[in-house]
Amino acid sequence: MSLGLTGLGVTSGIALGRVHRLTPGELSIPEYHLDEASVDDEIERLQAAFGRGEDFLKRLLDRLDRNASETARELLEAHRLILRDPLLIRSTEELVRSDRINAEWALVRQSEHFQNEFRRMADDYLALRREDLEQAVSLVQRELADQPGTRIGSEMPHELADTIVVAGELGPAEMTVLSQRKVAGLITEHGGPWSHAAILARSLEIPMLVGVHNALDLLRENEPIILDGHYGAVLAGPDDGLLAHYRDKREAWQRRRLDLRRYLGRPSRTVDDHPFILLGNADLDPEFERCLDSGVDGVGLMRTEYLYLADSLPDEERQYRAYRAAVDIMQGRPVTIRTLDAGGDKLPPVLAYTQGPNPALGLRGLRLSLAMKDLFRQQIRAILRASVHGPVEILLPMLTGADEVRQARSFIAACREDLRAEGETIDPELPIGGMIETPAAALIADQLATELDFFSIGTNDLIQYVLAMDRSDELVNYLYDPTHPAVLLLLRRIQQAGQRHGISVTVCGELAGNEQSARLLLGLGLNRLSMPPAALPAVKRSLLEADSQRCRQEVEAYLAGQSGHADGRALLAALNGPGR
Ligand code: PEP
Ligand code: MG
Repeated sequence: MSLGLTGLGVTSGIALGRVHRLTPGELSIPEYHLDEASVDDEIERLQAAFGRGEDFLKRLLDRLDRNASETARELLEAHRLILRDPLLIRSTEELVRSDRINAEWALVRQSEHFQNEFRRMADDYLALRREDLEQAVSLVQRELADQPGTRIGSEMPHELADTIVVAGELGPAEMTVLSQRKVAGLITEHGGPWSHAAILARSLEIPMLVGVHNALDLLRENEPIILDGHYGAVLAGPDDGLLAHYRDKREAWQRRRLDLRRYLGRPSRTVDDHPFILLGNADLDPEFERCLDSGVDGVGLMRTEYLYLADSLPDEERQYRAYRAAVDIMQGRPVTIRTLDAGGDKLPPVLAYTQGPNPALGLRGLRLSLAMKDLFRQQIRAILRASVHGPVEILLPMLTGADEVRQARSFIAACREDLRAEGETIDPELPIGGMIETPAAALIADQLATELDFFSIGTNDLIQYVLAMDRSDELVNYLYDPTHPAVLLLLRRIQQAGQRHGISVTVCGELAGNEQSARLLLGLGLNRLSMPPAALPAVKRSLLEADSQRCRQEVEAYLAGQSGHADGRALLAALNGPGR
């Protein structure tokens, strides 16, 4: 009898292996008072532990091979900087001296103090997020307890190709060690799609599920399990039949990936010679590289929220480096950079205080940027500076009205003038587009089309707002229906408005990366799709083999109630059936 657990798949891969539970570990953190004479020795012990913690990270960094993820490198560097920070070291030393307490105790107190403070120190270097501070400090605590390194000790096999590690959460140092040991898969009880661990798993291509509640209690050491990242499922105690099935599935998946690559080089035209354009969604360097490798025409959506999670309120320089790297990697193909879309389901902890009673309807997306002009200025300046090095487009999220667009445009123009005055030459024609992802924006698409240079449809949000269902609420997930006539009518309306005003309309929500719904979108006249690079080969094949005229007729007949299809599922089946 097998046990099934669910979580959120951060990568779509499949892993088979035996469980290794990485428990929080019984790190002893003693608390005691010192006599006057031992204070200096204790401070020396503390300094030495900081030094060894930092050395450990340095060795880890030195061992990262040249192709290792830039993200891993950045996160480890960030932890190293924390361990070198004089403010943290000095204030902990002072606590040892003033309260005559031992190093471990002082460190716990000091790091708690900073954890509470870090939101208010938004622009300070020490304002690295709570997660970073906690993980970096734990390395020092391990040194003090004489258990150096990470929880991945020598008792763990060196090669982990048959092991799936289960933990409460995982820090960047642990993730790096695990990936160097070629771990088969990862499961954590906590963390969302934007936790450090998830970001790293994506960039290191390790199959991973996050948010698997009670996984440490429910999964036994050494038991065989299957991790299915696509369905967000863990199957424990599988019988031979299920194991064989998943082995086949994993192989078929790998074969299919290779097979689909054959289509990548073909010109993007349907069987009836209708052109389509495929773009990539990418946030991190390896994803941009994968976009390039998949032959995309550009990047249709660079989400920038992760920058605010990794570094908590990154300054202009940090952002400039990230955008510039994206532009450089894409070698002349346009990169559409979306301004911060914080709020709702994507909330950097450092901005948590901006949230009202209903985050999905609160201060989010462009609203937040317009309310926090200093934050917005840094991002716009960074994007404009990166645009000097290659084609860049700015995308504004969560619009509801034309006035927001006007405010944003004049703010961007002012930033450009400031940069000009500082000697930068920024293209005045840099396209500024808007996400059409609220019913209001969709309904006034004609008006918005006169204010914007392009549209990008965020179907994830549009569907949730049109159908009044929270996309992160499991209880109403069943209502998510991209083929609901209300959704289709709005999509058609947006496409037609774009066409009337001669501006491009891209779809960048999940729908665009699904090979079946790609034909639905084609049937609505939406032939610019932006998706994660992994989805591109299958979507490309689907569209290469599609007849766009037939898709159009099918969708029009459905919307007119003349198709005979009972529901959207039947419509999708017809669109993707033989001969279409
Ligand atoms: C969307 O809403 O469809 C979209 C692409 O943006 P996000 O998922 O980041 O909200
Ligand atoms: Mg959205």
